[in-house]
Amino acid sequence: MEVFLAQPRGFCAGVVRAIDIVERALEKYGPPVYVRHEIVHNKHVVESLKSKGAIFVEELSEVPAKAVTVFSAHGVARSVEEEAAARDLPVLNATCPLVTKVHNQGKRYITKGRTLILIGHAGHPEVEGTMGQVPGPVLLVQSVEEVNALTLPADAPVAYITQTTLSVDDTKDIIAALQARFTDIQGPDIRDICYATQNRQSAVRNLSKLVDVILVVGAANSSNSNRLREIGTEAGVASYLIADGRELNPEWLKGARTVGITAGASAPEVLVDDVIEALRRIGPVTVSVLPGREENIEFRLPAELAAS
Ligand code: SF4
Repeated sequence: MEVFLAQPRGFCAGVVRAIDIVERALEKYGPPVYVRHEIVHNKHVVESLKSKGAIFVEELSEVPAKAVTVFSAHGVARSVEEEAAARDLPVLNATCPLVTKVHNQGKRYITKGRTLILIGHAGHPEVEGTMGQVPGPVLLVQSVEEVNALTLPADAPVAYITQTTLSVDDTKDIIAALQARFTDIQGPDIRDICYATQNRQSAVRNLSKLVDVILVVGAANSSNSNRLREIGTEAGVASYLIADGRELNPEWLKGARTVGITAGASAPEVLVDDVIEALRRIGPVTVSVLPGREENIEFRLPAELAAS
C-alpha cells in the first residue's frame, strides 16, 4: 500500500508555544502547574503533560491559592483574567498570538461603535474566550441561514471577525452573505486568517486528488481536525478521524491502494507514526511526503519563561 503524508500537517506554532509554556513552567516552578482547559485539544498531549506534573481543570475555582496557572491556547474571557487577578494567581497566558490578534480586532471594531459579528462554532472555547474579551455584545453566526436571520437594519454599522480554525474557504460564503446583507460592513484583511489552518486545509485538498482513503490524525473535539476530515469527504474521498493507530479499522482500507494521512494542528507527529505502524501491521507500505508549504513561524514565549 502506498501512503502519502500531507505537508504541512500536525503541530502549528501556536500549539508548540502552548505546550512549551507548560513544560517550561514545570521546569521553572516545579510541579504542580495548573492548566485551565485542555492546553490544546489532544488527549495524548494532555496525558504526557499530566505525567510531568500538570493538573488540568475547567474552572479557576479548582486552582489552589498561589498556584501557577496556565491559560490554554484557545484564549479566555476577560472575566477569567479578572478572577485570576482578584485571586492573585500567577498566570502564564498560552493564548495563541493569532487568537489574541482576533480579540484585538474585535475590540477595535467595538470601540469604533460597530456591532460585532463573530463567525464561529457555538460552545468552542476559542469562541467563548473571544466573546468574553470584547467589551460589547457579539452576535455569533455559524451559517448563511444565521446571517439571513439577523434582525439588524441593513444600514447598521457592523464588523465581523472569525474563529481562527476556520479557513478562508470555510468563511467565504458567510462573509459574502454578510456583505450582501449590510451596506456598512468592515472585516479583517483576508491575510489575517490563521496560516496553519489555511495551509493544512490546502494540503488535504491536494492529498485528496491522489488517494483512495484519508486518515486524519486528531482528537474528536478538535475543531480543525474535524474540518480536515470534512474537506476530504467533500472532495469525494472516504475520510476518517482517528486519535491513534489503535482506532484504525482495516475495513476502511478494503480495495484501497493509496492512503493519505494528515494531522490536525494539535496532533503530535508520534501519532502519525503510530498510524503508519498500524498500517504496516495490515500489510507492506511505502511512505512518501507530498511536496507542500514549509512553515517556519515561531511565536515568542512569555517574558518570564523566555529567559529560563
Ligand atoms: S491553529 Fe492557528 S490560531 Fe490556532 S493555535 Fe495554531 S497557529 Fe494559533
